[in-house]
Amino acid sequence: MNTIIDAHAHCGIQDQSMPQSFGDYRCQIQGSDIGAVVMFSPVMEIYDRYRPKFEDNAKWQQRRTQSNEYLLTIGSPDLKVIPYFFIWNDFAVDQLNPQHKGIKWHRHPNEPVYHYDDPQCKRAIDEIKRRNMPVVLEEEFENTIFFINELAVGAKVIIPHLGLLNGGYHAFSEKGIWGKPNVYADTALASRHEIEDYINIFGYDRILFGSDFPFGDPKQELSKILKLSIPQEKKEMILEHNLKRLLKNSNT
Ligand SMILES: [Zn+2]
Repeated sequence: MNTIIDAHAHCGIQDQSMPQSFGDYRCQIQGSDIGAVVMFSPVMEIYDRYRPKFEDNAKWQQRRTQSNEYLLTIGSPDLKVIPYFFIWNDFAVDQLNPQHKGIKWHRHPNEPVYHYDDPQCKRAIDEIKRRNMPVVLEEEFENTIFFINELAVGAKVIIPHLGLLNGGYHAFSEKGIWGKPNVYADTALASRHEIEDYINIFGYDRILFGSDFPFGDPKQELSKILKLSIPQEKKEMILEHNLKRLLKNSNT
C-alpha cells in the first residue's frame, strides 16, 4: 500500500462549532496509513445555512475568501492537503489558484439556493470545465440531475456519500447517473451494502474513499473499505489510484 488519500474532509478554523482544524484531523488519523487528504471549507464558513432566505453580503464574502485561502496554507510532510475551492453565489472562479484541484458545491433542502439562472453561474461552470476540475456536488436530487444532465454536461462530478444526502443511492441508479463516465462517487458515510452494490454493478474505476470529517471518523470510514471482501488491488484503486487519476490533469 502506498499513500491512502481521503477524498472528502472539511477543515477550517473560523467555524468552531466542531473541532475541524488541520491539527484536529491529523490527530484523528494517527496510526492510520492516510497520507493525503482532500479538504474543503466547513459550510458555515461559506454561507448561512440556517437562514433559507440568506443573500450574500460583504462580511460573508470575506469569511468565504479567508476560509478558501486558509486551505492553501496547511499541510505537513506526513499529511499532504489537496485543497478544493468551495464555490457559492458570487461564483468567484477568479479566486481559483493553481493549488486548487477541485470544486465543492453544496446545498441541502431548506438552505439558501444557488442562483442557477445567473449568467455568472454558467460562466463559472465553463471555467471549471476548461480547467478540468472535478466538482463534489452535494445538492437536492432534482438539482443534482439538472446539474449533471443540463447545466454542466460532461463536467467531472463526484456525488458524495454514494448519494445518501442527494436523494439516495437507488434514486441515482434509476436515473442511470452512476453509469455515466464523468460521474464519480465517494464512500463517506455510505453503507457497506450500497458500496458493494455499486462495485458489483459499476465496477471500481470511479469510486473514491472519503470520510466526511468531522461528521465521519476517518479511521472508521477507512476500516469500512479495508474490510470489503475484494482483491487488494481493487482496494488500492478506491483508496488512492482513482483520485490520483481523476486529479491528474485538473487545473494544470
Ligand atoms: Zn461533507
